Amino acid sequence: MQLAGKTAIVTGSNSGIGLGVARELARAGADVVLNSFTDREEDHALAAEIGREFSVGARYIKADMSKGVECRALVELAGGCDILVNNAGIQHVAPVDEFPVEKWEAILAINLSSAFHTTAAALPGMRANGWGRVVNIASAHGLTASPFKSAYIAAKHGVVGLSKTVALETAGQGITCNAICPGYVLTPLVEAQIPDQMKVHNMDRETVIREVMLQRQPSRQFATVEEIGGTTVFLCSSAAAQITGTTISVDGGWTAL
Ligand code: NAD
Repeated sequence: MQLAGKTAIVTGSNSGIGLGVARELARAGADVVLNSFTDREEDHALAAEIGREFSVGARYIKADMSKGVECRALVELAGGCDILVNNAGIQHVAPVDEFPVEKWEAILAINLSSAFHTTAAALPGMRANGWGRVVNIASAHGLTASPFKSAYIAAKHGVVGLSKTVALETAGQGITCNAICPGYVLTPLVEAQIPDQMKVHNMDRETVIREVMLQRQPSRQFATVEEIGGTTVFLCSSAAAQITGTTISVDGGWTAL
């Protein structure tokens, strides 16, 4: 229960990596605040379930991470936090000269600017407590590029830069800020792409995963949401107190190539 007594906000956590991270933080004893832009019964039920399973405080707070005011309000409504995980993110794929302007703006807002707003709102409380952890879920695409993902890659490189700057501004204050850079992670979103890819490439599930989806991931294995959650818990541990302003790749060797 190394994180007992700490409160963690995880943005975009009603599915996928965010949910996995929230569960691992709760398993380590933290009270958790789940978030997304919807306000459904099942969102609140998800939080209640985590609270019961791990005997921690767990709440769901609706806030749209594309809006700066709501990002800051999330931190206010949570009563501040000890651990902030900026995870909310979306993707759109198109050549740069055809990239829809509204998609560019939404991706930059949700994947990058939201982390600026939540961090700005959370830091004063962390400074007052002399302890804080900011963990930004970037991507292998925060360190490398692929065609047709200009907004996502610009945003994720931006998140890596933001993490370094926040680390410098908080150095020596008991606060760290780092970015986790996952390769392909098997989330419901990625799982849903497998049948289409099988059809398009006329391949079976295993072949399409190995040869198409994980072509850039030398391990040819997906990372799991539990592994991203475990890495987050490590960054919140005392062993990681001097790890700040850096990236941790969880990508099966992608960025070693
Ligand atoms: P996902 O779609 O399952 O999760 C995205 C989460 O963000 C969801 O909870 C969604 O509700 C939330 N969200 C979307 N728009 C939002 C908004 N406007 N306000 C609040 N919440 C919003 O996808 P995922 O794969 O779990 O992705 C989570 C993060 O991990 C993203 O930042 C993504 O870029 C990053 N990532 C994913 C992979 C991967 O392979 N899955 C790899 C590297 C990085």
